[in-house]
Amino acid sequence: MTKPVRVRYAPSPTGLLHIGGARTALFNYLLARKNNGSFIVRFEDTDQTRHMESGIDSQLNGLRWLGINWDESVDIGGPYGPYRQMERLDLYRPLVDQLVQEDKSYPCYCTESDLEKERAEQEERGEMPMYSGKCRNLTLEQRTQFEAEGRKPSIRFKVPRDRVIQFVDKVRGEVEFETNGIGDFIIMRPDGIPTYNFVVVVDDYMMKMSTVIRAEEHLTNTPRQIMIYEALGQELPEFAHLSLILNPNRKKMSKRDASLIQFIDQYNELGYMPEAVVNFIVLIGWSPVGEEEFFTMDELIEQFDLDRVLKSPAVFDMDKLNWMSNHYIKKAPLLRVVELALPHLQKEGLLPAELDEATRDWAVKLIGLYQEQLRFGADIVSLSEMFFSEGFTMEEEGEAVMQEEQVPAVLRSFLAQVEASETFEAADIQPLIKKVQAETGTKGKGLFMPIRVGLTGQVHGRDLNMTIHLLGKEKVIARLQKALA
Ligand code: GLU
Repeated sequence: MTKPVRVRYAPSPTGLLHIGGARTALFNYLLARKNNGSFIVRFEDTDQTRHMESGIDSQLNGLRWLGINWDESVDIGGPYGPYRQMERLDLYRPLVDQLVQEDKSYPCYCTESDLEKERAEQEERGEMPMYSGKCRNLTLEQRTQFEAEGRKPSIRFKVPRDRVIQFVDKVRGEVEFETNGIGDFIIMRPDGIPTYNFVVVVDDYMMKMSTVIRAEEHLTNTPRQIMIYEALGQELPEFAHLSLILNPNRKKMSKRDASLIQFIDQYNELGYMPEAVVNFIVLIGWSPVGEEEFFTMDELIEQFDLDRVLKSPAVFDMDKLNWMSNHYIKKAPLLRVVELALPHLQKEGLLPAELDEATRDWAVKLIGLYQEQLRFGADIVSLSEMFFSEGFTMEEEGEAVMQEEQVPAVLRSFLAQVEASETFEAADIQPLIKKVQAETGTKGKGLFMPIRVGLTGQVHGRDLNMTIHLLGKEKVIARLQKALA
C-alpha cells in the first residue's frame, strides 16, 4: 500500500507571498488535490531575526486570493499541530538531547571569533571554509571548564565521514553528495532554538509528509536532512526540488528586479484575475501534455503531475503573463471586470468613491468599451485618460488626418448635428454621422477619421459611437469647436 499523499508549503514568515513561494504552494496543492491527499501550510519561524509577525497573515491571504486552500494550518489547526515551529520547541528539544546522548551530536563551545579565525585560516590555505569539528572530541573536563566559564554551547550534528548520500529527486533524478564536503552543522543555537535543517526533518516526519516539494535552493540542505532522518531512525519522504526562476535576461530572478511584479499582493492590487495568475504560475516549470495553455484550477488538479515538472530553469516572462491575463479578462463577464477596474478610476480620483447610478452605468460602459484591451484592472486608467481630461494628446498620424481638405466641412456639419440632437445614446450617434455624410458627400475614412481624431487625438480606438456617447455632448461640442478654431 502506498502512503497517503501529504504535502506541505512551509514558508518562513518573512514577508509577502512571493511568486516563487506561490509556485511551490501551488504545485504541492495540486498534487494533494489530485491524489485526494492533504495540503498543509506550516510556518518555519525559528529564525527570529528574519521573522515578521504579519508574515503569517500575508502568506495565508495570498494563498487564499489565488484560490489555494489548505487542510491543516495555524488558523484551522489539524491533527499534527501546532503548525508554527516556535510553538513546537518542546517537541524538538528532547530529540536534540537524544542525539547528544547517542553521540550523534555534540556541544560546541566555539565563539564567533574562534570560528572566524578558523575560516580565515582555511581560506588562506585555499580550503573550502567548513567547521573543523574541533569540539567533537572535547573531554568531559574541557566541557565542564567551558561551562564553568559561562559559555553557552550550540549543538552540532556529527556528520559521518567518508560517506556518499544518495537520493532520487522526483525532478532532478539521482543526486549525490559527499559527506566530506559537509561540516558538522549546528542543529540548536546557544539560545536553545533549533535550526531549520533539524526542525524541518522533525516536522516532516511527525506530520507524516509523503513528499517534500520545495525550491531548488534547498537541494544542498537535503543531504544534511537525510543524515538527520537516519540519526533519528525515521523513514525518508520523497523529495522534489523545483528549478530556479530566471528573469528575462536569464539571470536568477532577484526580489529587486523592478521590471517584474513578484508579490501576489501586487497582482491583487493591480486588478489581475487570480485564475490568470494561477494559470501563469503553473507554467513556470510545469509543462502540460498537449498544446493547450489555458487551464482552470480543476483542470490543473486533473492534469498536474510531478513527472512533467521541468528540470531546467524557467523564465519569468511578464509579457506572457499580461497576454494570458488579457485573455482571461476578455472572456470574463463584464461585471467581474468592472470589479477589477473601477476601483482604480476611483483611486486616481477620476471618479468619486460614492457613485450615483448614472455615473456607475457610465463607468460600466466605459470599462466595457476597453475590456478587450485590458491586461489588468489598473490598465483602465491610462487607456481611458482622455475621457476625464479637457483635452487629449494628438498622435502624429492624427495631425496628418486633420490636414485633409474635407475636414472643416465634416467637423462643422457634425458639430451642428450634435448641437441639435436631443438624445445622445450610443445608438443615436450613427444617424448623426449619416446626416453629415448626406450633407457633405464624404464617406468612409474621410468621414470617420476626422471625427475620431478631432475628438480623441487617435487614429485607432474603440467603437466610435460608444466613444462619442461616453464623452458626452458637452465634451464633444467643446472638442469639435477647438478642432475648428
Ligand atoms: N522555510 C523554507 C523556506 O521558506 C522552506 C523549507 C522547506 O520547504 O523545506 O524557504
